[in-house]
Amino acid sequence: MDHLSATLSRVKPSPTIAVTTKAAELKAEGRDVIGLGAGEPDFDTPDHIKDAAKAAIDAGKTKYTAPDGIIELKQAICAKFKRDNGLDYTPKQVSVGTGGKQILYNALMATLNPGDEVIIPAPYWVSYPDMVLLGGGEPVIVECGIEQGFKMTPKQLNDAITPKTKWLIFNSPSNPTGAGYSRDELKALTDVLVHHPHVLVMTDDMYEHLRFGDFEFTTPAQVEPALYDRTLTCNGVSKAYSMTGWRIGYAGGPEWLIAAMRKIQSQSTSNPCSISQWAAVEALNGPQDFLQDWCASFQERRDLVVSELNAAKGITCPTPDGAFYVYPSIAELIGMVSPAGTAIDSDEAFATALLEEEGVAVVFGAAFGLSPAFRVSYATSHAALTDAMTRIKRFCAGCS
Ligand code: PLP
Repeated sequence: MDHLSATLSRVKPSPTIAVTTKAAELKAEGRDVIGLGAGEPDFDTPDHIKDAAKAAIDAGKTKYTAPDGIIELKQAICAKFKRDNGLDYTPKQVSVGTGGKQILYNALMATLNPGDEVIIPAPYWVSYPDMVLLGGGEPVIVECGIEQGFKMTPKQLNDAITPKTKWLIFNSPSNPTGAGYSRDELKALTDVLVHHPHVLVMTDDMYEHLRFGDFEFTTPAQVEPALYDRTLTCNGVSKAYSMTGWRIGYAGGPEWLIAAMRKIQSQSTSNPCSISQWAAVEALNGPQDFLQDWCASFQERRDLVVSELNAAKGITCPTPDGAFYVYPSIAELIGMVSPAGTAIDSDEAFATALLEEEGVAVVFGAAFGLSPAFRVSYATSHAALTDAMTRIKRFCAGCS
């Protein structure tokens, strides 16, 4: 007898977590494996943030809080939205959840009805389509290839919108490509959205602070104030402050939606960890200057990885604007055979052979909805990256 729900059969486990697990298994067997799969910065959480958490414990801030966040954190979030994005939100328009992931999930659970469509540009963060499926909605995938810089065009957006469209999910800088939309590119998309008042906009700004060169970060409600009333501006402390394990994400949006998300959260997880909330207050209100050094360090590693991958046989790697990922194409390697004789007939076959033959763990492109490619997370040491690049180049050189 099958005890599992029909909903469960529609979703798959996270492929990025699967790769990390496989790499850990091989390491445990004694294999020399370099993991380029993890989606988290390799910096430690800054000391002033850790100190705030310790102080919160000592002050007894260890009890239940309001289900969607303490007022002090909501105020810090409002100040952040104003400071960084020019957006005015009141605490009643702010929701705090257990990571950005829960925020996105709550919003989808609170709004989707069977048959509702959600537009997701591909390549996408792995969880978007599955969250939509969990909520009973229909992901509408719009392929945005390497030739268009992995960015959706206004025509593609316009063509994807139907009377059933409930949400557009927008993510810039992007996981998995690092591609960021310029202000003009984003404005061209919001110009389309203005003509479709039934479409809600979920913008996932998780990588806002990890950006390079003169790339200017902008977010939909800032670029087009007419969208303010139907935009959920999502963000979190995981990536910007190297706080992935603390599990704090947040969003600003219309009061009706924030109240609906609170209802879901109050009947599922209740409040996010009280101690993490106090740490997040310090992250948002405290010094921000270390971010410059982090970005410089990521930029140096990005440049290394992009130039090395472009020097590998059969790989084409664009230079991203932000985050800590690159998304190279392996179109030229498809149809070849790996050095140990495996047919490279898909990007999954490529990633599996690379792991088995050279001990380098990357995530295959099909997981993100755009093949043939793979994702490298370069949030690891310079030495590990240099070693990994040598192995990838050797692997590719041996493909024939
Ligand atoms: N959105 C994107 C694009 C991400 O890459 C991630 C994490 O990998 C998240 C959301 C979720 O972040 P959190 O750790 O805050 O749940």
